[in-house]
Amino acid sequence: MQITLLFLGGGFVNCELAGELLFKYLEEIRSGKKRISIIHNSDKLLPDSGLYNDTLRKNVTDYLSKNGITLYLNTVGASLDTSPKRIFLGEGSSKYIDADLIYRGVGISPNVPVNSISDLCDKKGFIQVEKNFRVKAVEAGNVFAIGDVTNFRYHGLVKRDNWVDVLTRNVISSLQEGTEASLVDADCLETGHAPSGVSLGPNAGFGQFPLPLLGTINIPSFLISRAKSKNLFSDKMEPLFKK
Ligand SMILES: Cc1cc2nc3c(=O)[nH]c(=O)nc-3n(C[C@H](O)[C@H](O)[C@H](O)COP(=O)(O)OP(=O)(O)OC[C@H]3O[C@@H](n4cnc5c(N)ncnc54)[C@H](O)[C@@H]3O)c2cc1C
Repeated sequence: MQITLLFLGGGFVNCELAGELLFKYLEEIRSGKKRISIIHNSDKLLPDSGLYNDTLRKNVTDYLSKNGITLYLNTVGASLDTSPKRIFLGEGSSKYIDADLIYRGVGISPNVPVNSISDLCDKKGFIQVEKNFRVKAVEAGNVFAIGDVTNFRYHGLVKRDNWVDVLTRNVISSLQEGTEASLVDADCLETGHAPSGVSLGPNAGFGQFPLPLLGTINIPSFLISRAKSKNLFSDKMEPLFKK
């Protein structure tokens, strides 16, 4: 029986999951017994946010495509409530894919607590903050927000040491000096690339690392494989879950 799997969105989560499936089912995928497709809304996989360079995005795109995964690029997938397992290749398009299983990985949705603060969030629902984590909509300056819920361009853990340190200092200053407190800005990757590694099954992956003055260097597959892909940090995660 032929199985059709569809990934809606070609960001990190779906690319990494597709890479794992490729490793496990390479022959079935290449022979067409298992069909895996990714629908993504830009010309290459990974978000077109400016955080990831073209080489990284092209390497991931080519790797998955050359190994038998069908890519529908520059395409927005759309579904109807009446047939949720049918994904149309574009809004209003008559072309579609009927999938047995669909993975939706189309980005995060901020979960902001119920509140009555006007203009708290931007159009996408993220809390608007200054670089010092102060919430823009609160004039008193005594509300701060951090993490994926903010409208920072970069969401992730790479800068967490700087962020936690800056937030702590700013909250203390704010408590002591009120609105006049002089606050420190966080390093929030407002421009440039983010250090990243995309794992594509245990033996493959691609990465990038931005270096001051030298620009962004691309990390070869064997290094990403050794550092991340092989065990996906499971050795570091396990103790967190063990009782
Ligand atoms: C599969 C995956 C892989 C990732 N890999 C990486 C990586 O390799 N490197 C990297 O830098 N980043 C990675 N990220 C991103 C990283 O996990 C997030 O940036 C980070 O978790 C954000 O932290 P946070 O505390 O803002 O939000 P979260 O970690 O989402 O935590 C928010 C918590 O608040 C709880 N919550 C929500 N609403 C309320 C409420 N009203 N009251 C109380 N609690 C509430 C939620 O249940 C949740 O537990 C990955 C994310 C995913 C999904």
